[in-house]
Amino acid sequence: MLIGRALGTRFWTRRCLRVSFRHAKAFHGTAWQLQAEIIDGKSLAQKIRKSLSHEIDTLKTASPSFHPRVAIVQVGGREDSNVYVRMKQKAAQEIGVGFVHCHFPETVSEEELLQSVQGLNDDPSIHGILVQLPLPKGLNERLVSESIVPEKDVDGFNEVNMGRLSKNTAKPIHSACTPKGVMELLQYYNIPIAGRHAVVLGRSDIVGNPVSYLLRKANATVTVCHSYTQDLPKYVGEADIVVAALGKPEFVRGEWLKPGATVIDVGINSVQDGARRKLVGDVHFESAKKVAGFITPVPGSVGPMTVAMLMSNIVDAAKLAYAKSRAIPKVELLPLELKTPVPSDIEIAKTQTPKEICRLAEDIGILPSEIEPFGPYKAKVSLDVLDRTVDRPNGHYVLVSGITPTPFGEGKSTVLIGMAQALGNLDKLSIACVRQPSQGPTFGVKGGAAGGGYAQIIPMDEFNLHLTGDIHAVTAANNLMAAALETRMFHEDTQTNEALLRRLIPVKNGKRVLHKGMKARWEAICAKHEYDSSKLDEAPKELLYELTRLDIDPSTITVNRVLDVNDRFLRGVEVGKAPTEKGHVREAAFDISVASECMSVLALANDLPDLRRRLGRIVVANNKAGEPITAEDLGVAGAMAVLMKDAVKPNLMQTLEGTPVMVHAGPFANISIGASSVLADRIALKLASGGSNGEPGYVLTEAGFASDIGMEKFFNIKCRSSGLVPNAVVLVATVRALKLHGGGPDVSPGKALPEQYTTEDVELVRRGCANMAKHIENCKKFNVPVVVAVNKYITDTDAELDVIREEAIKAGALDAVTSEHWAKGGQGAIPLARAVMNACEKSKNQKFKFLYDVNLTISQKIEKIAVEMYGASGIELSPLAREKMERFIEQGFGHLPVCMAKTQYSLSHDPKLKNVPKDFVIPIRDMRLSAGAGFIYPLVAEIMTIPGLPTAPSYLNIDINDKGEVFGLF
Ligand code: NAP
Repeated sequence: MLIGRALGTRFWTRRCLRVSFRHAKAFHGTAWQLQAEIIDGKSLAQKIRKSLSHEIDTLKTASPSFHPRVAIVQVGGREDSNVYVRMKQKAAQEIGVGFVHCHFPETVSEEELLQSVQGLNDDPSIHGILVQLPLPKGLNERLVSESIVPEKDVDGFNEVNMGRLSKNTAKPIHSACTPKGVMELLQYYNIPIAGRHAVVLGRSDIVGNPVSYLLRKANATVTVCHSYTQDLPKYVGEADIVVAALGKPEFVRGEWLKPGATVIDVGINSVQDGARRKLVGDVHFESAKKVAGFITPVPGSVGPMTVAMLMSNIVDAAKLAYAKSRAIPKVELLPLELKTPVPSDIEIAKTQTPKEICRLAEDIGILPSEIEPFGPYKAKVSLDVLDRTVDRPNGHYVLVSGITPTPFGEGKSTVLIGMAQALGNLDKLSIACVRQPSQGPTFGVKGGAAGGGYAQIIPMDEFNLHLTGDIHAVTAANNLMAAALETRMFHEDTQTNEALLRRLIPVKNGKRVLHKGMKARWEAICAKHEYDSSKLDEAPKELLYELTRLDIDPSTITVNRVLDVNDRFLRGVEVGKAPTEKGHVREAAFDISVASECMSVLALANDLPDLRRRLGRIVVANNKAGEPITAEDLGVAGAMAVLMKDAVKPNLMQTLEGTPVMVHAGPFANISIGASSVLADRIALKLASGGSNGEPGYVLTEAGFASDIGMEKFFNIKCRSSGLVPNAVVLVATVRALKLHGGGPDVSPGKALPEQYTTEDVELVRRGCANMAKHIENCKKFNVPVVVAVNKYITDTDAELDVIREEAIKAGALDAVTSEHWAKGGQGAIPLARAVMNACEKSKNQKFKFLYDVNLTISQKIEKIAVEMYGASGIELSPLAREKMERFIEQGFGHLPVCMAKTQYSLSHDPKLKNVPKDFVIPIRDMRLSAGAGFIYPLVAEIMTIPGLPTAPSYLNIDINDKGEVFGLF
């Protein structure tokens, strides 16, 4: 029985309404002149609706987010359509199904209608969509009906559902309601179908055809008759079951029927009956009931069943959507063909065919409406995921950090990707969150950042180059802000107060017009002067001049123009040299795009409104009175947010083994937080919340440099801003770096490694372990379990690796594991993945804590970091740093966290001091503000914000062949 099977709890209706089948059987195959038994569809339909209502209540109690909803699209105001819509609305509301009526005027265009259906398809809160037919002339009914996705096609009319119904080996998601109701009646009344001869009169797509498919699926021998059929009574006379769907009043006569036959009369025809009209079926009821065994009356049998089946389909659709949203994500792995020796990164990447990104998105529970593909292998993920998953708990949140690195880097990204692949191998959902690499290093000295060996992100060239254009958007937003600033200064310098006022707040039709972008500044000025902001026209001139004249002090400008390229010649430029700028020449500079505050804002924004607010808060300069002037004051913040409206959505890519990777934002690790975006982490954590079995997945995210820099900022700035709580830290170490800290000779890229690094030297490693121990101590200060991951190189020996493990455990790491992901992919990082799973389990008993309270003074916050993270004995502020600090406090920024700009090559401020330096004082040379991102950054060292190119940059090897294949990236 369809209902019982689909809903599980609906069998009881049948027992309640069971009729006397003993009586019914007596009719079959006899010619007795008894009255046929009436098939009471009305009662059955009522019982079904009651049962559905009960079922919805039960499901809502068990799962409060279960809210079935149906939408009806109606065009025009035909009275019969209005009646049907009201009837469906009443039926839906009666059983607790939400109802949305999308009512359009007759003038609606087909495009608008299709877009509306698309919107309903994409809306996860709508489970069923009905298009009320007929549509007015000029609208293509078929096109509109077919645009409903099969899952929401609760009428069961669309070609996918109908096609599946017609196939022996397929099952529709929803069957058409009237045919389904017919079958329900037959089955309910225990009327045998298998092996019987069923004759269906009519072959419409609404009734005749689908009924014939269903009867055939139930093993009847089916004859379908239509207007071309010769000698209809002959076929009807041979039928054990007659389904009449002709639209011909009382067409089928009782004398045509085989005695005892079952007659299902679908027809509804309005005929004149004396002075009134009445409804009759396609069968002449009076004559038929004397011959038939069972018969449906008209009205009151098939009709009510159609409505009940519609409700049943809606509930099934809602259940399906709910089950899908709670399904355990299952990511199919791409097989690896491991080779020894390990080929080059690009060779490995090229031998792997990535999955279609939409398939991967579906595997991890992203809805089709939430994914915006950019070609086959990368896509943007809509922030709508966050609204849809708001009730879900987060998955496990794991930070990958490291020990003090060598100039080669110790492979944090590779470990992170290998670990993500390993968790996939263990059948766990793991989502890696990484930064989008800047093109500067890609064409400069360092190469890309897609991981390496058998732990990579693919396609590697797309990852390393434009991706989906986010860095370009950041560049555009920053440069618009810089242009706005420069232009405003120019216009203020060359115009009187009156002229400025006339242009910036023009009078139209006797009223002053305030541009949207100037509203926030106007409100702030009015608040300061306690003036009613709605009285713009009556405002005193001084207030209006204050609004229009920013009075910027050029010596305080903090915003540079940016480009995503390593270009040393842009470190110092002169702008405004054309004669049109009337001598307003200024010394300026460029930064690399990822050093822009817009990039930090992208990384730290919690949602689109937050991004907009933060952009507005960016301080671009001070005015001559020493007050901060913001992007909001320039009136440019809204336009900047528009430029970044797509960049705010994280990008989905995959690892070499096909596990998901979110790539989003790439702020500099020194003057900013060096971590990927809060939004990517938040979305990933919701997707990894665990399926119906409640077992959470893992989100692995990275912070640049070592624990003293990246991790400290990740916890104190990023986690504070997002409210996300980490479960574990993976601290990446290498034998090479530990040897350097133990006293090994200097290493630098481009030069051969000294022998100490390629031959066993256990003591050198042991001495260097002090650096690792300090980083373990740093992790523990935040009360987060730490696992050391030793990124294994082929020259590392077992004795060296054993020492690291021993020292790590001694220093308080929960575990220390060697990882061979580079040579073996996910399989090589399984022990590490298990150790991380264990650490996440342990974190349940530990409460994460920040290193400092933001309400400490700025210098106290800096000192706390310097002493506790770096091991310094104190800090020393230069007069410049002190002056800036005092100004920031005065301007109201003293409560912000601090983002230290310090060398990554030492725990101290001096890159030459390796291992665990002692007795040093951290000098704070200067201090800057990122009010939009939300931090103050003290400069310990001179930080280069636009790198240069070396003599032999990476681009010398990069080219493209005739087929468009890129080579030379690494
Ligand atoms: P339809 O699209 O007009 O189809 C009628 C079918 O009957 C066609 O296949 C047609 O054959 C065939 N036919 C017409 N005259 C015939 C004749 N003299 N001999 C043999 N075959 C003939 O109608 P429909 O949408 O299927 O609806 C049929 C009836 O069911 C109507 O009365 C309708 O109101 C009613 N209905 C009731 C419900 C309900 O909930 N109870 C739901 C839907 C429909 P050709 O294909 O050769 O033209």
